[in-house]
Amino acid sequence: MGRGIRQVKEDFECENCGFQVTGNGFTNHCPECLHSKHVDSVPGDRAMLEECGCIMEPVAIVNSRGGNAILHKCINCGVESINRTSPDDNTQEVERIKYKGNRGRERRQRY
Ligand SMILES: [Zn+2]
Ligand SMILES: [Zn+2]
Repeated sequence: MGRGIRQVKEDFECENCGFQVTGNGFTNHCPECLHSKHVDSVPGDRAMLEECGCIMEPVAIVNSRGGNAILHKCINCGVESINRTSPDDNTQEVERIKYKGNRGRERRQRY
């Protein structure tokens, strides 16, 4: 297709569900299935790793500065990273992962 290749960091197509993710500057994961992609190496720690480019699975919801964050784990190299949830995220998916991740620790809470 004739679209010019331009590196716009946050725009990408989700390789898990095919959703076209339009970057809003806040998210690096798919708002539909919450999967991410292992592209950026974190400066410091493992900066020497080559870009692996594999899918990062949401494995748990963790607390980050008072808000929800997604713990992503790369299915290829196992690197984990934590990303804040965005307002566009599919809350059902967030709840599902949260429940899955916390299963066995607590019974489901009533609201
Ligand atoms: Zn997706
Ligand atoms: Zn990886």
